[in-house]
Amino acid sequence: MLTVEGLRSRYGRIEVLHGVNLQVKPGEIVTVVGANGAGKTTLLKCLSGTQPVSGGSISFRGQSLASVPAHGRLKLGLAQSPEGRQIFSNLTVEENLRLGAFLYTDDRVAQDMGDAFAMFPVLKEKRNLPAGGLSGGQQQMLAIARALMGRPSCLLLDEPSMGLAPLLVAQIFEVVTSLRDRQVTVLLVEQNAYGALKIADRGYVMETGRITIAGPAGDLITDPRIREAYLGT
Ligand code: ATP
Repeated sequence: MLTVEGLRSRYGRIEVLHGVNLQVKPGEIVTVVGANGAGKTTLLKCLSGTQPVSGGSISFRGQSLASVPAHGRLKLGLAQSPEGRQIFSNLTVEENLRLGAFLYTDDRVAQDMGDAFAMFPVLKEKRNLPAGGLSGGQQQMLAIARALMGRPSCLLLDEPSMGLAPLLVAQIFEVVTSLRDRQVTVLLVEQNAYGALKIADRGYVMETGRITIAGPAGDLITDPRIREAYLGT
């Protein structure tokens, strides 16, 4: 579904991705774990088209994304739920969700909204309230629900567990797992390596702009190198 080969990206003269290779197959949950500053967010931005690429290639469902701008990628079915959620605080919950469906004007928008509320009942309760008043966990749910309103076949999730209390982290990872049932493929970037590897099919470890380890998530979780560096055991 998503193939990344030799991907390079830079901020000014400083290259931060030095030739990244990864693959996501249809229906998979794939995670990229790594420390703060490893380049995970930059990778997702390159995929969603909000960060320039200086080398290598990205293809999505067999099509090169080289000349496809960010909004065109969403049309193709590739959506991102960005780091820090970036919800519109002054707009209501429902208005935020409607923005996620900006590509569509058909009757299915109402149905998608109903699906979002079924998935996140708390958002239904608060649908007419400003999104800025939601708790951190609720805002994360809104960010995911808003991305789903764009009807993606592949969702890029940037650190959905960041800053959340453990109970909410578990809830968010459950939500990510449930995306399988909706036939949404997921690329999940996380610093919470244990939580991400527990729900993923496969994983990649990123260190200073390079993929250093790759494999089935179950193998990575027991890999001594990963246990020592990322799982604190
Ligand atoms: P985090 O979890 O903190 O977001 P990350 O793995 O997502 O970390 P990136 O945010 O992609 O890492 O950052 C990779 C490198 O690029 C870091 O060294 C960072 O300082 C640098 N960087 C990120 N954004 C910019 C920017 N806008 N301008 C210059 N350098 C940047």
